[in-house]
Amino acid sequence: MKNCPYPLISLFIVGLFLACSSTPSPEEPLSKAVSTAPQAKKVVLSPQNPEFRLANEVIPQAYTLHLDLDPRKDGFKGKTAIQVSLLEETNSFFLHSKKLNITSVVVQSESQQLTPEIKTFEKEEQIGLFFSETLPPQTLTLHIEHEGLYGTDLKGLYKVNHPTGEYLFTQMEPISARSLFPCFDEPQFKTPFRMHLKVPKDINAIANMPLIDESESAGFITKNFQPSPPLPTYLVAMMVGPFDEVIGPNIPATKLRPNPIPLRGFALKGKGEKLQYALKHTGEILLALEDYFGIAHPYPKIDIIAVPDFGAGAMENPGAITFREWLLLLDEQEAGVRQKRAFVGVMAHELVHQWFGNLVTLAWWDDLWLNEAFATFLGHKITAQVSPESLALESLIRGTHSAMNSDSIPASRQIRQPIVTHHDIHNAFDGITYSKGAGFLSMLESLLGEEAFRKGITEFLRKNAEGIATVDDLLHALETQSQNPVTAVAKSFLNQPGVPQVGVSIACDDSKATLSLSQKRYFKLGLRTDAENLWEIPFCYKTDQSQKTCVIFKQKQQSFPMDHCPEYLHPNADARGYYRFSIDGQYSDNLNKNIDLLTLSEKLALADSLKAAFRNGEMGFAQIDPYMKKYGRMPQRILSTSFTELFGFIHDHVWQHEPPAAFEKYVERIYAKPFQKIGYLPLEGESQDIKLQRQAYFNLLYKYANRASVQKWLYKKGLKLLKAKEKGRDTSFLQAELRWLAFHAILTKGTPKTNKNHFRRLKRLLLKETDSSWRRTFISVLGRTPVESHFDALIGLLPNVRKNEKTSIFWALMANPIFQEKTWETFKAKYDEFSQEIPQGSLAYTPYLPNAFCDIQRVAEVEAFFKDKIQDIPGAPRNLQKAIDSIRTCHGLKEKSAPGIRSFFGVTP
Ligand SMILES: [Zn+2]
Repeated sequence: MKNCPYPLISLFIVGLFLACSSTPSPEEPLSKAVSTAPQAKKVVLSPQNPEFRLANEVIPQAYTLHLDLDPRKDGFKGKTAIQVSLLEETNSFFLHSKKLNITSVVVQSESQQLTPEIKTFEKEEQIGLFFSETLPPQTLTLHIEHEGLYGTDLKGLYKVNHPTGEYLFTQMEPISARSLFPCFDEPQFKTPFRMHLKVPKDINAIANMPLIDESESAGFITKNFQPSPPLPTYLVAMMVGPFDEVIGPNIPATKLRPNPIPLRGFALKGKGEKLQYALKHTGEILLALEDYFGIAHPYPKIDIIAVPDFGAGAMENPGAITFREWLLLLDEQEAGVRQKRAFVGVMAHELVHQWFGNLVTLAWWDDLWLNEAFATFLGHKITAQVSPESLALESLIRGTHSAMNSDSIPASRQIRQPIVTHHDIHNAFDGITYSKGAGFLSMLESLLGEEAFRKGITEFLRKNAEGIATVDDLLHALETQSQNPVTAVAKSFLNQPGVPQVGVSIACDDSKATLSLSQKRYFKLGLRTDAENLWEIPFCYKTDQSQKTCVIFKQKQQSFPMDHCPEYLHPNADARGYYRFSIDGQYSDNLNKNIDLLTLSEKLALADSLKAAFRNGEMGFAQIDPYMKKYGRMPQRILSTSFTELFGFIHDHVWQHEPPAAFEKYVERIYAKPFQKIGYLPLEGESQDIKLQRQAYFNLLYKYANRASVQKWLYKKGLKLLKAKEKGRDTSFLQAELRWLAFHAILTKGTPKTNKNHFRRLKRLLLKETDSSWRRTFISVLGRTPVESHFDALIGLLPNVRKNEKTSIFWALMANPIFQEKTWETFKAKYDEFSQEIPQGSLAYTPYLPNAFCDIQRVAEVEAFFKDKIQDIPGAPRNLQKAIDSIRTCHGLKEKSAPGIRSFFGVTP
């Protein structure tokens, strides 16, 4: 519906035009904002102080932004006009503003022009407008002039200096729009935006919407963009700079959408050529999504933009999607499998957001999962469809298992966590929201059936299009379309933390078979285990006689009759259930014996539950051993590498990086033969997965089996690769996945003299490298130098690397056992200086750095160091808690498992 509730008023900011007119014009009144009027209104009693949430009685209807953006300067100037509906009488209200210098505020009411008193509330990131009289309900227009500095921590509107010029980028999600313009910075407030950007002549400016026209004056150019459909503030985006612009193939019209969508790519000057791969493959993903939803892409253009310094991985801004360079700039010949898979996966994720998040927006951050769990789940689903060889559905299951690991500690969040502080908003962007959320949706889809699930979400999107929605809207749509009650099941997974562990036993006698189930929350060793949780679990099992039988299991203990006595039973058919399991007695052995009858997903679920049993001490190494061997020899990579992480744990923490020969032989016996089959060199046309499998075997045999032939081969390739990079020659003689190992070999396996020489040369290459993929490789491998005196040289790199690479140096050094102690000490000593230099988003993760430790003595020290420093860094306190849990659980597992592992390998302590 398009309406025009605004009265004709006199205006004093050029360009803002609110009169109603039937003639379409670029400055026509903006279309409807989302009505967020509350059900039960309360009278606003002229509050004196802001609260964490803004009032529901003051509703923004439209924004017009005039911004002066000159990247050569340190800051910007703006004039922001906001139409606001006042639903109750008041003489004060609040809106967000962070670090802005507000130079003028004039409020146009229906009858007069007002100049309120402005108060700044720094901690709350709000300003208050205090009027000398009580204003009755009406429409107001706020005209605010403001100025501010470009962000220094990759948030808000921030500047990137580069040899090819200065650039500006935005990253508003979750709450940084307030640092560019005063606004009602909550997702429930969706309004149209009209943007006018004044930038130096000869450089480009991109915004969410297509350009309408531009005008030039005195060396500057003002770009006027089409008004947007209703958007929340966190989706506002703009980029300014001397970009390379590459026109992509239009995304063709379809029966859902009469017009083609123009597609363009942007990168820093000189890097445009590497956009070709991304431009070529974007359209097919978008078309697949339109087909799935049965709803056309909601915006008139798609620009994809490669950002060199970026705190996030990618951001779904409508019409102007941003990506880290590594995800978007790919050379088709040179890029490795992981980079290509990351591109398609992340592009699919961001495109799903055009519907989930952009077209229908979360009402509040506690429903962030409606954005991110859907983008993760459907992103994988669509990736599997457009790029079958990426094995996206298998990787979705792996992602869910990895979320189960994060969900096995007391500090774990709920998918829908109440949001009452700024910390909570930042914490919501974690593996629980994304991957547990996706695992939960996968379970829900399996429960309802694929088609009913699709219809339910389509209905949800249609009904709430251009508006906002909550979990209840979604569940209602799913229940209506599927005729299947899901609310109780859904809420038991959404509204409590933790992963259920289901105990399974089967009793058979002549007349009947009974399945008995019990549930408890799974915790890793060394952590609290007294939590009382109860889930409504869609429990599906497979037996020799039935592919899939499902029951809803909702009591602590419950028994179900079975129609036959099975030979074996797999307690998570299709691996769609978000739970782990343990099986009693003979049936555990029977499952192992029948393992070949399971699907790949079911084998993955079994491996996860076995590893979980090892991690919480229910199984020792001797019991896990037959599975490690069996899985290790399975032909599919995703299965044969299922237990690799346990090798890492044993190597690093039980053997302290010096494994006995018996352990090396053990690894070799499992992996040498499968490796031989694959061979050292890629065959013409071999699959992506074989390439990754080769990398995995190289890694295992090189790192844990100390296999001389593999080391020698990598050493030779490392030398050749080093020379090729130095001379700018072709590097395709070595598959991309093996670069890191080849460099590691020449850095660590030569003589002290050659190791030092190669370190110097690799460091030189890093300093002149511009490709972010190679830079990642160099930084990570340099951290593994075996030469102690290189430590200072690596710390000395800090001023010379990009902002989002600074913490990578500490992570790389922390992974090197000879530097762990020194890195931690240096990090602590440099923290104050360092915390000024790196983006707050990266800083928030640094409390997780000590998770590399495995000694419980560290806990007090780590806690004491960070405690007072991080209270104001959004998201950091939870990362500290995670690091502490990780140290505790590593310590607990080492204590519990080491004696059995030593005795298994015949090593006396
Ligand atoms: Zn996302």
